[in-house]
Amino acid sequence: MAIRPFFAAGAWTQGRGEPLETRNPENGEVVATISSASAEDLDLAVAAARRALASPSWTNLVPHLRARLLHKMGELIDRDRDRLANIQMIDNGKTFTECRALLESAANTFRYYAAACETMEGVVPPARGAYFNIAAQVPMGVVGAITPWNSPATLEAQKLAPILAAGNAVILKPSEVTPLIALEYAGLAQEAGFPDGIVSVVTGGIELGRAMVAHPGIDMISFTGGTAGGRHIAAAAALQLKPVILELGGKSPHIVCADADLDKAAKAVATGIFSGAGQSCVAGSRIFVEKKIADAFTARLVDIAKSLRLGPPGNKDTQIGPLVSFAHRDHVHRHVTRAKAAGAELLCGGELPADERLSLGAYYPPTLLSGVTNRSDIAQQEVFGPVGVILPFESDEELVAQANDSEFGLAAGLWTRDIERAWKIVTQLQTGTCWLNSYKNLSISTPFQGHKQSGLGREKGLDGLRQYLQTKAIFWPA
Ligand code: NAD
Repeated sequence: MAIRPFFAAGAWTQGRGEPLETRNPENGEVVATISSASAEDLDLAVAAARRALASPSWTNLVPHLRARLLHKMGELIDRDRDRLANIQMIDNGKTFTECRALLESAANTFRYYAAACETMEGVVPPARGAYFNIAAQVPMGVVGAITPWNSPATLEAQKLAPILAAGNAVILKPSEVTPLIALEYAGLAQEAGFPDGIVSVVTGGIELGRAMVAHPGIDMISFTGGTAGGRHIAAAAALQLKPVILELGGKSPHIVCADADLDKAAKAVATGIFSGAGQSCVAGSRIFVEKKIADAFTARLVDIAKSLRLGPPGNKDTQIGPLVSFAHRDHVHRHVTRAKAAGAELLCGGELPADERLSLGAYYPPTLLSGVTNRSDIAQQEVFGPVGVILPFESDEELVAQANDSEFGLAAGLWTRDIERAWKIVTQLQTGTCWLNSYKNLSISTPFQGHKQSGLGREKGLDGLRQYLQTKAIFWPA
C-alpha cells in the first residue's frame, strides 16, 4: 500500500518519521498507511507558517477576504460531505448517519467563524492624556492544534476555523488513530486557496505532539484530548509561558428526578451514554436517579439499552457501531471487569458480543452497572465507552454533593418539571455545561468549556475566536 503524505509548508510531504497505519474498526483491516512527521519536518512546517504570517498574501487578507476562504471551506465540505462521512466512518467506526451530521456541523463551523471574523472589533479607550489610544486585537501567531480520535470532523473544524478567522497560521496534528479527515481538510484548504504555510496538517503520535508543545516557533497550543495529556501539555508549555487551551475529559452526571417526564428522560439518558458508543467527552456516564423511581427507571433504561442495534456503521438501521479500535474495546472491557470484581452488579451488556457477524469488529454492547457508590473507580474514572453507572439518590443536597464529587467538571443533565428545584440544582453543579430536560444539545455560537480538571479556556462562540487573539495597546500623541 502506498504511503500517504501529509501536508506541510504548502506541499504534500513524505515525512521522515515512522509511518502510521490506520485501521477500520469494523473489521480490523488497514485503511491507509500514512507518512509521519519527524522533528525536522515539523521545523519546516513552522518556518513556512512564520514566513506565511509575515507575507502580504496573508497580511493583505482583510477579514472579509479571510471570511471568503472560510466560506469556501464550508462549501467544499458540503460538496464532499458523503465522501468525507464515509472516510470518517471507516477511520473511527461512528455510524454513517452520525458522521454525515458531524460534517454538516463542521461546514457550519467554518461559516460561523467566517461571519464572526467580520464582526470582531478593537476598543478605543477614553483618553486620559494628550494622546489617542487603541486596544487592537492581533493574532497570536502560529497555533499548534492537537486533536483526539472521537470526533475529528467536528473537533478539527472547531480548531481550524477560529484559529484562521483570527488571522493566525495553524499546524494541526490529528490523533494517530484517526488522521484521515485532517488530511482531507488540508486538501480542501489548499483548494480553497489559503496561502502556502498558513494551514499545515502533520501526522504522528504523542512524540510529535510533544515536539509541537516544546517548539519555540509555535506561539500557542490548542489541545483537545484526555486529562492526563492535558496536564503534561500544560506543564511543558509553562516552561515557555506558552498559552494553552485545554478541552479535556469528563464523567458527566445525568440526573433524573422523580417528577420528570420519564419517557423523555429515559430516551435522553440512553442517548447521553450510548450514542457514539459512549466515546464522547460529554457522555452522561454517572446516571443519578431519585430513589423512589430508581427501580422502575432502571428497568426502563435496561430495556432501551438491550433494544439498541449494534452493527456495521454503514448500515442504515445501525444505532451503535464499533469502538474506535480493538485496543480501546479491551480498555473499556477491563473497566467493566474490574467494576464487577469490585462488587458492581451488571444489569446488561458487559460481554463481547457473541454474534458471529460482530466478532470481526471492535464492538461493545451498551452496558449498565449498579450497586456501587459514586466513589468507586467505575464512577470516578472516564471509561469513554458505552458504560453507564446507576447511582440512586435521596435528597437534593446529597445529589449535588455526589455529582460534584468528581475531578471532572465538563457537563451535566437534569430532568425535573420543578423550576425552582431545577434552578437550585443547576446553579450548584460545578460543570461548564448544564442541560435542563435535554442532553447533548450543542451549538457553535454557545461557548463550551470544562471546569475543574475538564479544561482550561473555551471553544465555540465569540469566546472561541477571542482566545486566538491577543490585545495590543497603541498610543499616539496628539
Ligand atoms: P489523548 O489525550 O490520548 O490524545 C489526544 C491527542 O493528543 C492525540 O493527537 C495525541 O497524539 C496527543 N497527545 C497525547 N498526549 C500528548 C502529550 N503529552 N503531548 C502532546 N500531545 C499529546 O486523547 P484521546 O484518547 O485521543 O481522546 C479521548 C479523550 O479526549 C477523552 O478523555 C475525551 O474526554 C477527550 N475529549 C475532550 C473533548 C472536549 O471538548 N473536552 C472533546 C473530545 C474528546
